[in-house]
Amino acid sequence: MAVRQIRVIGDEVLNKKCKPVKEMTPRTAELIEDMFETMYEANGVGLAAPQVGVLKKIVVIDVEDGNQYVLINPKIVEQQGAQTGYEGCLSVPGKTGIVTRPDYVKVRALNENMEEYELEGQDLLARAICHECAHLDGQLYVELVEGELLDTEAEEEEEEM
Ligand code: ZN
Repeated sequence: MAVRQIRVIGDEVLNKKCKPVKEMTPRTAELIEDMFETMYEANGVGLAAPQVGVLKKIVVIDVEDGNQYVLINPKIVEQQGAQTGYEGCLSVPGKTGIVTRPDYVKVRALNENMEEYELEGQDLLARAICHECAHLDGQLYVELVEGELLDTEAEEEEEEM
């Protein structure tokens, strides 16, 4: 396993659409392990493959609910409600902004064994699923910020993904 370099805003890889994963290969399995390691090293709660320069539809999420979610080729199939709050992104370091997201989402994806499953998320998990799925379409949260993008205070612990 290895920590990979996180691409930051301005890098065009972050604005490209990702390709679906067709089969699990040792290379892709290693990518997923590296994505978790990179996310934990950066104290993030989610990471999408393009953030480490790979244009594949892969997301990892750990919102500290005791689960390590791997979402391959994810598709949001249901969403309800709304939550408005601060959001941050590992690819937009030192910044935060207010974004409104659904309060509940259901996503259909493949796990690391390429088995289909559904994941339901509320609150932070719903926000992380939406944020990461947007990365796979080449979208950053800064496009959705209400008002201005703010500088984060050094002592603040923002949820970054
Ligand atoms: Zn992000």
